[in-house]
Amino acid sequence: MPDYSDFNARKTGRYKDIWTNTGKCVFCDLKDKYIVAKNASAVLTVNLFPYIDGHLLVIPINHVEDFLEVDPKVWADMRDLAELGIKLLRKELGIEEIWLLFRAPNGFKAQKTVPHCHMLVLPYKKEIVNWNYQDLTIPPIELAERLRNECNSNK
Ligand SMILES: [Zn+2]
Repeated sequence: MPDYSDFNARKTGRYKDIWTNTGKCVFCDLKDKYIVAKNASAVLTVNLFPYIDGHLLVIPINHVEDFLEVDPKVWADMRDLAELGIKLLRKELGIEEIWLLFRAPNGFKAQKTVPHCHMLVLPYKKEIVNWNYQDLTIPPIELAERLRNECNSNK
């Protein structure tokens, strides 16, 4: 059982030990006391190990890992709860700017730690992220052309 009182675990570095020792899917076993709202196929919940105050998650009720396997109806329900989360954070905490972050397709190589797919409703603060812009090798116009060609070859 993770130690949910250790909510600063990301900052202290203890989070790594917590999420690797749960032994089950924590998002299939959400506790009502942490859930903010729920609809037919998803829940809006607080993140128990938040990056920042106000960090929420939108999680499909049924276990699915890959974004590409999320049913469009589930996706629509997730979108509605993200909207609700944005409105609630604005009203309750005065948070104006928010990032919606969804790691895809499965996110395992993109810092996703819980396999069960989830969307982050993440209050934006410039101090939370340091972009490290990369040297580009593909001019945007070339990328557009290449992807358009790929699109058309699959029709
Ligand atoms: Zn799950």
